[in-house]
Amino acid sequence: MTINEKTLSKLFDNIVHLQNFGFIVNAAFAQDIEWKNRNNQLILLEEIHKLCEYYISNPDISVCSILDTYLPSILIDDEILKKENTKWCGTGTNMVAIDIKGNEYPCQIFLPNTMPKECNWAQIDFRNSDLFSNNDCKTCLIRNICGTCYGINIRSRGDIAKRDLKLCDFKKILSLGASYLLGKKFELGYFGKYDTVEEKLKAIEAIEIIQDTYSLTYKL
Ligand code: SF4
Repeated sequence: MTINEKTLSKLFDNIVHLQNFGFIVNAAFAQDIEWKNRNNQLILLEEIHKLCEYYISNPDISVCSILDTYLPSILIDDEILKKENTKWCGTGTNMVAIDIKGNEYPCQIFLPNTMPKECNWAQIDFRNSDLFSNNDCKTCLIRNICGTCYGINIRSRGDIAKRDLKLCDFKKILSLGASYLLGKKFELGYFGKYDTVEEKLKAIEAIEIIQDTYSLTYKL
């Protein structure tokens, strides 16, 4: 489910509606549109708040993707990530798109109908993790959990590592929501994927760091 400016104010309703039908909701925000306005932030905060309260009141319902982030990733050292070549998605390494002539592409966005010819991506070594780190995001707390589309990065900004900074506030609000929700679920005794003591402690540490960093800027 792709969320755009017209559907933002219905985010809660739409996700719950789909979940009531039994769908697993995988949602993402449209890229390359002008999200950076205070009103959108306020709408998102309200929608995320409603979603969090809904999942807290219904703890057995699975949490939609935008709030189901593995938060301890923020604690992982950059060098370790680099060594493991952890990209956000499998484009060019674990994924392939094939057109009707049998030509292979890193994923569907690299096909000629969505990727202009001048975007010279063919030389990119998708196994070289150096190409995926970006100075704009180097010091950002949530860089390891901030989803991005490498294809759109190269198409819109000419660099596979350059993320859409118009979405930064949204990403921070989502991480705040995810940490609030996880904390509340822990309080209720719902630990989900955090099954060992070590995992739980890492999650709690991540929750605290995210809350300390963003809760004064964004009021959920
Ligand atoms: S929130 Fe913005 S600065 Fe932080 S990692 Fe995401 S794109 Fe980069």
